[in-house]
Amino acid sequence: MSTSEVYDYIVIGAGVQGSFTAYELVKTKKKTLLLEQFTLPHTRGSSHGQTRMIRKAYDQNFYADMMDEGYELWAQLEREAGVKLFRRTGLLVMGPENSQSYLDFKSTLEKKKIPMMVLTPDNFNQHIPNVILADGDGAFVDTTAGVLYADRALKVAQEQFHKLGGVIKDQEKVIDIKPGLTVTVSTSAGVYQAMGLVITAGPWANKLLAHVNLHLPLEVVRINVCYWKEKVPDLYHVNKRFPCFLLTEGEGVKDHIYGFPSNEYPGLIKICEHEDAQARSRSSNICYHNGSETDPDQRDKKTDCADIDILRRYIAHYLPGVIPDPAVIESCMYTLTPDRHFVLDRHPAYGNIVIGAGFSGHGFKFGPVIGKLLCELSLGELPSYDLSPFQISRFQTIKSPL
Ligand SMILES: Cc1cc2nc3c(=O)[nH]c(=O)nc-3n(C[C@H](O)[C@H](O)[C@H](O)COP(=O)(O)OP(=O)(O)OC[C@H]3O[C@@H](n4cnc5c(N)ncnc54)[C@H](O)[C@@H]3O)c2cc1C
Repeated sequence: MSTSEVYDYIVIGAGVQGSFTAYELVKTKKKTLLLEQFTLPHTRGSSHGQTRMIRKAYDQNFYADMMDEGYELWAQLEREAGVKLFRRTGLLVMGPENSQSYLDFKSTLEKKKIPMMVLTPDNFNQHIPNVILADGDGAFVDTTAGVLYADRALKVAQEQFHKLGGVIKDQEKVIDIKPGLTVTVSTSAGVYQAMGLVITAGPWANKLLAHVNLHLPLEVVRINVCYWKEKVPDLYHVNKRFPCFLLTEGEGVKDHIYGFPSNEYPGLIKICEHEDAQARSRSSNICYHNGSETDPDQRDKKTDCADIDILRRYIAHYLPGVIPDPAVIESCMYTLTPDRHFVLDRHPAYGNIVIGAGFSGHGFKFGPVIGKLLCELSLGELPSYDLSPFQISRFQTIKSPL
């Protein structure tokens, strides 16, 4: 075998979290290698697609605090790269006025003094035409929220990393990891060594962690990303100031429904259900295939239509300008932890292996902050935020035999 290339740090996985971590490491002048199993760009993980929502409205303060910096870091990257990555649209939040989920969203904004506009049933349609507010629902707009251009952001993070001397090797699947003072990583094409390793493998996290004797309670779920045709093209267009929206709960809705203004595909609006696998497995009256666990290497083997039926019903009732039949369905994957909080930690046995995993369907907006935190953990620095909600020790970790 040829001699191995030596780096300061190796990052496995060029999704949003790995790309930003590699960028942060190279900014500190560390010789960094970013490994990706597929040819870049690809649509097989969790970070692809044109848009992701960015918002500060979180029930947990630790996320809302991180997002204060998140917005600044996204703006900084836009300036550095000279590329627009964020468009402010506002986020319309709707839900039963007295329900816990709706009140939690609202009180987070109030507590953090995030600018918001409360709507009433009387003035709702003056501000938000072509949406029906359900009886008993409250509504407000988080005016700071908006859209991140996801594919573009990923490309920019990787380009900035490369510009600073970082090395990206795609089409190289990691097939073995040997821990030690120096970590040895073998791929389908070569062998590499480094003093530190970061694993940000998205839905493949446990497949990678098996090489370092760790198994996390992660559940991988395939998500239908649905686009629906507008009855009149551009009725819900971003240029008409239609906002992103989120329904916290509603009749027949298991988890929240969210949507984006039309923009990415002409005449189509993206509306999806935020799928919570546990909520689904508790439910008995939906067409449901054998549990929701997805093997990321066989993502499209099982198709589940329950969310699409829920969306159809919601759209037919509340979005009169949208045809309630999906025009385009794309796929993506969530990697869920039991408490839906991320994993940002060092390996319990190998201090020079850092793990970023379990982003539970809401990690994109945090990309630049996660990159900074995983970089700080790798360098042995004090992390900028309290990482106790994200520690591995909160799970009962199951060790797999080596
Ligand atoms: C439908 C959908 C909607 C979402 N909406 C939002 C939103 O509005 N706002 C928000 O903030 N978040 C959102 N998210 C969540 C967000 O997109 C994810 O949390 C984030 O993309 C996770 O990134 P990641 O880097 O952990 O994983 P990934 O993007 O999957 O990256 C992991 C990478 O590791 C690579 N890899 C794996 N194994 C190996 C190996 N053996 N060798 C080499 N490379 C390997 C993979 O190929 C992949 O490229 C959404 C997610 C989905 C699916």
